[in-house]
Amino acid sequence: MRACIGCGGIAFQASAAHESQQMEGMTFTAAIPGQKCASCGWMYLDPYALERFELLVARQLAEFGARRGRTFKFMRRAIRMPLSDLAALLTIYPGTIRQWEDEEIDVDEAAFTVLRGLVLAHLQSEPVPQSSPTIHTIVS
Ligand SMILES: [Zn+2]
Repeated sequence: MRACIGCGGIAFQASAAHESQQMEGMTFTAAIPGQKCASCGWMYLDPYALERFELLVARQLAEFGARRGRTFKFMRRAIRMPLSDLAALLTIYPGTIRQWEDEEIDVDEAAFTVLRGLVLAHLQSEPVPQSSPTIHTIVS
């Protein structure tokens, strides 16, 4: 990083920020490493660690057997799967996925099973990074 977007400062310190995601009555939190601007305090989170956090949360949701439409959307986005690609894979209309994700209608169970499988396969196909955020799960 060259200069802070907020203040133009050029000195940064290694830091971490807590990121959390609430899904299906569970709260997932992790410390995400980043660089903190020494003059204004703005945090620049490591985008790779953030991406990894979302993937790990998606995996926990997949293993838990998540069911809700907004969870479906979160999991699809965590694996960077475009809505149109998933619709083609499931041989359904993209509008149907939108209705699921907006929770207008219940997500088809078979489609959720496919998405869970994609999430788990995605993690297996990725190289394990040296530092991966540790996810803490709180069930409320
Ligand atoms: Zn700054």
